[in-house]
Amino acid sequence: MSSPEPASAEARPVGFPPPDDQGSRRAKIVFTIGPATEDPETLRQILLAGGDVCRINMAHASHEWTLKVLRRIREAGEAAGRPIATMMDVKGPEIRTGDLDQTLHLEPGEIFDFTIKPGGGDGASSEEVRSVDVNYRNLVNDVRVGDTVLVDNGLIRMEVLEKDHSRIRCKVMIPGPLSSRRHINLPGVKVNLPALTEKDKADIHAGMKIGLDYIALSFVREAADIATLRDFLEEHRYQARIIAKIEDQQAISNLREIVSACDGLMVARGDLGIECPFEELPMIQRHAVRTCLALGRPVIVATHLLESMIQSPMPTRAEVTDVANAIFEQVDAIMLSGETTVGKYPVPCVQALDKIARRCEGGERAGFAGGLKLGSDRAKILRSAVVMADELHATGLIAFTRSGAMAVGLASMRPRHSPIFAFTNSAATFRRLRLHWGVEPFQMVFGAEPEHTIQKALATLLYYGRARRGDKVVVVSDILASDRLIDSIQLRTVE
Ligand code: PEP
Repeated sequence: MSSPEPASAEARPVGFPPPDDQGSRRAKIVFTIGPATEDPETLRQILLAGGDVCRINMAHASHEWTLKVLRRIREAGEAAGRPIATMMDVKGPEIRTGDLDQTLHLEPGEIFDFTIKPGGGDGASSEEVRSVDVNYRNLVNDVRVGDTVLVDNGLIRMEVLEKDHSRIRCKVMIPGPLSSRRHINLPGVKVNLPALTEKDKADIHAGMKIGLDYIALSFVREAADIATLRDFLEEHRYQARIIAKIEDQQAISNLREIVSACDGLMVARGDLGIECPFEELPMIQRHAVRTCLALGRPVIVATHLLESMIQSPMPTRAEVTDVANAIFEQVDAIMLSGETTVGKYPVPCVQALDKIARRCEGGERAGFAGGLKLGSDRAKILRSAVVMADELHATGLIAFTRSGAMAVGLASMRPRHSPIFAFTNSAATFRRLRLHWGVEPFQMVFGAEPEHTIQKALATLLYYGRARRGDKVVVVSDILASDRLIDSIQLRTVE
């Protein structure tokens, strides 16, 4: 192939890497948009620094703001020549305290009531026991005497002493200030709230006016929760993929069925760290990552990766090591929350993740992908392609994919040296592939002739410096055999 340019204007891929691009990074970066990042210039800088997926946390977002930022993300992607994926994170079932006229300063050993009748929450009761209302009527049926109630991200700890039909009476074990509408966690309690709330449905309807690539469902407890969301999406013909956020002990118990049912998993370490003993967290993360890699699902490690950078321009040594461990585990993506919603240094945070990932990739590997179970013939063909690329230190694995499945299959095998250059004719597939480990997506129009399409892809890689003449690449594509299309693996030398 002598032309330095793609064969036609159509072949020019969307997603052109920026001029100072250093080649593919395998792990992807999810960032949460907020006041610190919503302006177009900061968004542009985040995209150029390597942000791959933008998360919108519906716990804090109005519909008006959501539509505004979804439009901006699309515009910023087009302007920077680097479209990214969007992920709406819906709140799911959540128990909260009600309104209080003023903050209550709880005392150690104080007796305190959670009332389930409307009108509680005046901070006092006839028995002079202070109280607050909760938004969940069934709470008294779900908790047992002796259970722990954690309020405000675990800052306040109480123990259930007794309960009746209208209230739960607790003893304050670890006190703290209690203000209005604080989040309640009930470690180890099976909560009978619906998986998908009316608010979640309204949020998804709103987001779909512009389009969403992923929907992350909070507090997934079992596979049926995923099915509920999938049915809802199918009913409305929404195309988004489902990310299951695991946040409590029940999700850990049902991990395998949840991973099988979802399109990707988020290890939501914020709530997990409240719902489970903290020393369990590293084991839970490992178990979740290993299960995802065994079942070929993408996995995101979330929360507190660079928490100190909300205030400081430099990460702590412990944070750097935490990020490195996720890279060694070969997770698909690492996620920023407060760091990019309200932090002072959102762009340096993305740059820091990018730097650590690039430095650590190619080093240690946990090797979890070795546990991948191959079901179909197609999966075995993909495994052969990866083995060939590994043996040859191929410059890349090239996949042509409409739905993205071929590229996702290659990624789930975690090739040792070769990036996966995924050529797709679908803008939605292109964006979704941003989440997957090792995949660099390109968008182009496929020709009628498979060979013509391969040549266009090779020209594109040459043009953008992803391959040089003489390089070996492994191509996974359809070829025409008489009048039939069959799967093929080809070893090509770039000319
Ligand atoms: C988490 O708990 O780690 C998390 C990502 O969820 P959220 O930010 O919605 O609490």
